[in-house]
Amino acid sequence: MSSSYNPYQTAQRQFDQVADMIGLEEPLREMLRQPMREYHFTIPVKMDDGSVKVFKGFRVQHNDARGPAKGGIRFHPEETADTVRALSMWMTWKCSVVDIPLGGAKGGVVCDPRNLTEREQERLCRGWVRQIARNIGPYTDVPAPDVMTNAQHMLWMLDEFEQIHGGRYPGFITGKPVGMGGSLGRTEATGFGVIFVLREALAELGIKPENTTASVQGFGNVARYAIKKYQELGGKVVAVSCWDSKDKVAYTYRKKDGVGFDELTAITDAYGSIDQAKAKDLRYEVLPGSAWLEQDVDILIPAALENQITKENAGKISSQVKVLAEAANGPTATEADEIIKERGIFLIPDFLANAGGVTCSYFEQVQCNMNYYWGKEEVLEKLDTKMTSAYAAVSELARKQKVYMRDAAYMIAINRVAQAVKSRGWV
Ligand code: GLU
Repeated sequence: MSSSYNPYQTAQRQFDQVADMIGLEEPLREMLRQPMREYHFTIPVKMDDGSVKVFKGFRVQHNDARGPAKGGIRFHPEETADTVRALSMWMTWKCSVVDIPLGGAKGGVVCDPRNLTEREQERLCRGWVRQIARNIGPYTDVPAPDVMTNAQHMLWMLDEFEQIHGGRYPGFITGKPVGMGGSLGRTEATGFGVIFVLREALAELGIKPENTTASVQGFGNVARYAIKKYQELGGKVVAVSCWDSKDKVAYTYRKKDGVGFDELTAITDAYGSIDQAKAKDLRYEVLPGSAWLEQDVDILIPAALENQITKENAGKISSQVKVLAEAANGPTATEADEIIKERGIFLIPDFLANAGGVTCSYFEQVQCNMNYYWGKEEVLEKLDTKMTSAYAAVSELARKQKVYMRDAAYMIAINRVAQAVKSRGWV
């Protein structure tokens, strides 16, 4: 991620383009191109060595016209207010495009959990909640996991919220551990959701998944379950790129006859860093981090961070690539979109492709409210139905109006939110 890149500008530019296309009137534009509320705060944490470190925390609520704001919390050393703003906006469109009754929010902490002990991470989670506990909650704003946060973090956050508010509020946060108010299938949901819509796109393009190959950027939670599901459909992943926490650079691990999901998982840490020496023993070629994008494959799946496909590297995408399934949030820069359009690569835009996570979070809330939990198959079936119908609506609009898939997804999402804002009489 280049330091000059600003994802908030990308999010606003994407919004402005579509607002022009649909002729969105002025007060709505003004309202929807920026967050409704944001909170910036400090989080003092007692470290294990007795010192105190002060972290910077954020929560941004972009829009809650369609329901309580919803979105994850990222732990990342390069987190910025603008990144969180952009991600909160994308959450609004994400919940809207899959038509779940939730708004959009995002949170973050500038930190590197890879350098924090378990106890320090717990105190950081509790500290984040203490600073914002009065401005979030099951009926206002519901957090969830995101980059480098997990189910254990969510449970610590829930516990702190419940200590403060004096009750049990399992609907306050999603992505909790199964058995502690979490939903079966939530861990798999984002990655599986990516492949449910990829399956639909391939069917539309008349391509059989078993005849395809893919290259994936990232090996965290989203990438892993996307790879698993894609392999179940018969597809072959030939390259996976991921961050190396020791060398502080990314590498691409390639095996032309197909990467082994289990063997790679066995040599990967909790944050998605593959052990390089062990990968070499398993006969993986180790290439530069950027190589994932340059492979001769049919499908590219960026499943790491924002701003990975740029005008500088989009030209290196192989002519064999037919589909780009954006599993990460904001992986493609606006200028690269133009290149992808020109090349005729079929795009499944991020806030549609990766909406499986929040859709399952919504199911988790529903189950929490009923205090009755579904089996895994039921959850995944409902997820597939939601993702498939959202995909169908977007691709139908794209075909009918001859617009880019990202624009079609935005048109549907913005129209629904605009309607909610108007119906409530806000503008
Ligand atoms: N952090 C995930 C996302 O970007 C999931 C959000 C949620 O479950 O609320 O979609």
